[in-house]
Parts: sequence; C-alpha cells; structure tokens
Amino acid sequence: MSAQPAIRVLFASSEVFPLIKTGGLADVSYALPKALHALGLDVRVLLPAYSSVKAQLSWVKTDIKIPLFSFLHQAPATILEARLPDSDVPLYLLDCPMLYQREGGPYQDGMGNDWADNALRFGLLSKAAALFGEHQFDFKPDIIHCNDWQTGLTPAYLHYSPRSQAKTLISLHNVAYQGVFGSEVMGLLELPPASFGMYGLEYYGLVSFLKAGIYYSNWITTVSPTYALEIQTPTFGYGLAGLLAGRKQQLTGILNGIDDHWNPHTDPYLAQNYDFSDQLKQDKFANKKALCDRVGLSAEINTPLIGLIGRLTYQKGIDLILPVLDQILAEKVQVVLLGSGDKGMEQQLQALASRYPQQLRVTLGYDESLAHQIEAGADLFLMPSRFEPCGLNQLYSMRYGTLPIVRHTGGLADTVTDVTPCHLDAGSANGFVFAEETPEALLQTVRRALVLYRCPELWHTLQRHGMQRDLTWTGRAAEYLSLYQQVKGDDF
Ligand code: ADP
Repeated sequence: MSAQPAIRVLFASSEVFPLIKTGGLADVSYALPKALHALGLDVRVLLPAYSSVKAQLSWVKTDIKIPLFSFLHQAPATILEARLPDSDVPLYLLDCPMLYQREGGPYQDGMGNDWADNALRFGLLSKAAALFGEHQFDFKPDIIHCNDWQTGLTPAYLHYSPRSQAKTLISLHNVAYQGVFGSEVMGLLELPPASFGMYGLEYYGLVSFLKAGIYYSNWITTVSPTYALEIQTPTFGYGLAGLLAGRKQQLTGILNGIDDHWNPHTDPYLAQNYDFSDQLKQDKFANKKALCDRVGLSAEINTPLIGLIGRLTYQKGIDLILPVLDQILAEKVQVVLLGSGDKGMEQQLQALASRYPQQLRVTLGYDESLAHQIEAGADLFLMPSRFEPCGLNQLYSMRYGTLPIVRHTGGLADTVTDVTPCHLDAGSANGFVFAEETPEALLQTVRRALVLYRCPELWHTLQRHGMQRDLTWTGRAAEYLSLYQQVKGDDF
C-alpha cells in the first residue's frame, strides 16, 4: 500500500452489533470499524450508553465531558471507554442516564411507541460527535462518519462551529427513516436560527435530522450503487430526492459486506458446520433437520424449505407474499419465517401457520440463533422487498448456500444475479430475481426456483457461485478508506 497520512475516524452510530441491534445498521457499525481497524486506521466508535449496553461491557470512565443542552440544567454527560466485543476497536459510550438508561429499545418503548424525547437523545449523540470534531478531546478525528438520522445533526453542529476541524461523511442506511420533529425542538437543540430554512435542516416547517445530515455533510454514502441512484428519484427518495440529486457529485454507493460471524464453517449456532463441498446437501440437511426439530416441523431431505427473516413491513414486501402463500404451500414446500413488525401482518401470518401446521412455522420476535439456523437449514431465502438499500440477509444466504429469491431493487439488484442461460454461462447466476412488484411475479419466481431445485447439479453450481463469492468487508473497507482520504484532502 502506498504511504498515506494516517486517518483518524470517529464512527458515530445509534446501534452496534452485538450490543444493541434493530437492523442492518448494527451489523455495519460493528463490522466496518473492525475492517477499517484491520487496515490500520485509528477508528473509534461512539454509541449511547443504553442501560443494556452498559451491562454487557466492562468500561472505564474517561474525563471527557459533554455539556447537556442548557435548558436541562443538568450536569454534563460523560464518555465511558470500552472495546467493541472481540476486537481492539475502542468504543466510546455516551453516558447520560436521564436520556439512555431505561427499559426498552433504542428508539421505542416496550409498546412500540417512539420515545418522546428522541430529538434530545439523538440530538445529544450528534452534538457529542461534533465536539470530537472540534478537537476538544485527546482523540482528534479527521473524519466523523455519521450514520442515518440519529447522527444527522453532527454535520450541522460542525458547520456552525468556529472550532470545526473534522470533515463529515454520512452513510444513509435507509432514507425512509428521517428523524422529523416539530419546530419547537429548534430552540432546545441549540442550533442557530439560520439553520432553520430550506437551505438547512427545515423540512416543510419541521426539523429533519436526516435532511441536516445530507445538507451539511461533506460527503454522503449509501449502501449500494443502485440505491444511490434510486434515492434521487421521487419513489425512493421519500421527499429528499431533489436534495440528494443536487448532491450527486458527493454521493457514493458502497455495498455492505458480511462479518465473519456469518460463516457456516465456524458458526457456533449450527448443528453441522460446513463449506462448499460435494457433501453440501448432506451438511445442509443436518442443519435443516435441526431447524425443523427446533420449530416443530418434520424434515425431509427432498422437500424444499424456504426461509424468511426480517422486519414484517411494507418495505420488505410481506404483503406481496400473503396473497400467494397458499399457492406457494401447495407446491409442497416448507416455510420458516422469523420476524416482527406490522401487527396486521403478524396476525395474518399466524392465522396461516395454524392452517398449515406441517408446512409453515412463524416465530414472532427477534432471535439471533434462529436467524443463523434458518440461513443454514433453508434451501431458498425469500426477500421480495419493495426497496432495499443493501440488504444483508441475501448476502448471508449466499454465504450459507441458500439461494435467494429477491426483487430487483437497491442492493438486491447489485448482489443477486438471476438464473438465466447467459448468467449461467458467465458463472455469475446465484439466485432468482423478479422485477414486478406483484404477488403473481413473486409466485412465478418461487415456482421457477422449485423447478430448478429438482436439478441437483445445477443447484450445486448456483450454490457455489454464491458461496465462493467474496462478500467480506475487506474490499469495502478499502473503498471507505480511499473516500476518507479524498474527503480529508478536499477543500469543501
Ligand atoms: P434492515 O436493516 O432493513 O432491517 P437488513 O437486511 O439490512 O435489513 O438487516 C437486517 C439484519 O437484522 C440482519 O442481520 C437480519 O438477520 C437481522 N434480523 C432482522 N430481523 C430479525 C429477527 N427477527 N431475528 C433475528 N435477526 C433479525
């Protein structure tokens, strides 16, 4: 590698695997800093000290103090220092019990309602990251890497700070979530009134954290090249398409990778570890059997099993599956589904599961071990998303020899190559892709996959294409590194 000036990065995120996770952001916030560290960068992660996170780690207090918003009349928050699990990456925890020490999730209470003070909770996280960027503390980052709306205000704070020294980059993991609050939070968050306008963080009279991030950051990334283009269009831009199109010269799509704890060769959750080999069918059957035992189905080596894991939402296209699930099950397949989300979808799935006790199992909730076991035990993985910034489960599926069935959108379009004669010849076919956003198109593609399931040699070839593909973070981290170098050197 050519000699480059060392780069210091503060990676600010609201969730980090395995400490706290609601989705792919947590996976990225763990794996990318680790991969950057392996490239020799001084990268440190900043995360709120949620009570569950504090309980899982050993940490020490630092003397770094983050002043709270002055109207709160409270002592400053403090920064605790720990390490990312199983790594040497320093982890800073923003400790403010009033805002982060409570039962429930990072964004919502146990009933699924957003915390009423989310603007303050993530305003403070954004402000803390910006204070590092003013070089107030011993660790002086060149780049502050923000992620999603929860750290969207950091570039705004730095923009208005006379002491601002770091450059900012924001990664958009899902533009549909924007962190929009009433204008009354303006005064509380201590941003100058000048920022509240069309050329700033105002969004139709409201305050948008994500708009702030996009507007004020030096660079923007998103998690796949196709999604980087899609979000510049009204359908996918969720009201921010114009702003994103206006910044397209500073907008880069970089695909996510997968961390090594998603490796069938070493995965501790599996009944049988495996890799690509002539034994693959038997190895996967041992995992199918363990999965079926766990969820209460009887395993058959030649009965295709379709897995699905994820948030049960409109985005994930669950409502495209529901109208044709009877027809899919009529094809003599088994389906194992894990997820939670929309209550109506949950109820419909449970009602179907009770009608098909031999074929369909629905587990509502979040379960890391079951997610790994589904990836290993299933033959096919269904991911009919309406939009998908990158998607991780189709990558895990490929790694586990489980062929993905996906809709042609975002990161799914960039990573899954349909079985066509041409792609087979090129050695790139690794799954099944459909374009139309309809239950019929989905059903037809499932049927197409099931026909090929009966051709073991071809199936084995498709599994090889997915399993032997380089899906690691190493190359992707190098792309971030060269972007950091460019952003650090550029005069914005
Ligand atoms: P998103 O971030 O939009 O939810 P991704 O595919 O990018 O979707 O990432 C989802 C991550 O969360 C994956 O690691 C997936 O395995 C995991 N996941 C989602 N739902 C569940 C669940 N119910 N139980 C276990 N893991 C889940």
